[in-house]
Amino acid sequence: MEKINLKKISIILTMHGLALASFGEINKLNFTSWFIAHILFATLGVSVGYHRYFSHKSFTPHQMTEKIIALVSTLCFQGGIITWAAQHRAHHLYSDNHGDPHSANRGFFWSHMKWMFYDNPNGFTMAAHTKRIRDLTKNNFLVSLNKKSNLINILFLMSLLVFCFLINRPYLFFWIGPLRIVTVWHLTWLTNSYVHNAHNQSHLKKPYKKSLFLKIFMGGEGDHEHHHNFQYLATNSYKISNFDMGFYLIELLYKLNLISSFKLTIITDDK
Ligand SMILES: [Zn+2]
Ligand SMILES: [Zn+2]
Repeated sequence: MEKINLKKISIILTMHGLALASFGEINKLNFTSWFIAHILFATLGVSVGYHRYFSHKSFTPHQMTEKIIALVSTLCFQGGIITWAAQHRAHHLYSDNHGDPHSANRGFFWSHMKWMFYDNPNGFTMAAHTKRIRDLTKNNFLVSLNKKSNLINILFLMSLLVFCFLINRPYLFFWIGPLRIVTVWHLTWLTNSYVHNAHNQSHLKKPYKKSLFLKIFMGGEGDHEHHHNFQYLATNSYKISNFDMGFYLIELLYKLNLISSFKLTIITDDK
């Protein structure tokens, strides 16, 4: 039974309202700060953190690296890490069918954001996936971050607000806080709606669309067909030469000895 979740709807609406306030002061500093924050959180927080590591375990970080990535992901305000990973694993398991919380078969708006307005969207329940997320629930640090994710984000935003007032740049708060959260939200959600070719599902012409825009602004996400075929790989592209910011970051973390290995087995430049 899909029950409306008013708390989630209020958070989404409030954040959009606060994001609009950023347009009260448009200047180079605010824009550049937003851009850097957006790329950092979209790439490290969502693509590398929530998606490639916590959902797919496509690389093996050292303990401290895992904690830092977990914190950056949490600060994307997309729900707890474990909840996100459970929903995403269900998405791969039931892709666009009953059980996939943001099934594209229920239309663009549902797969983009409406699914979040409900508890147990499209037949998804956390209880049904307990076994599939045991690798995450046995980690106490991740469990407590998961439980307190809303509180952590609210405290972070309040600290950011105080900091921006102290440096006499109050509007900067709206740019790197709410606006950054909202832009990372919508670009994450486009992977479920636009890239999953929602409006085309009934005809099953082509289940996925490629998006260079998402590759650039959403941490290399955007070659979703490859990802659905080889979901455990650290790269989201058939060709290693294709632009994939998330993968470049994983390679960098490996070179810096912050992660011990990553999964990359079938990628060649000839395919
Ligand atoms: Zn997908
Ligand atoms: Zn995935």
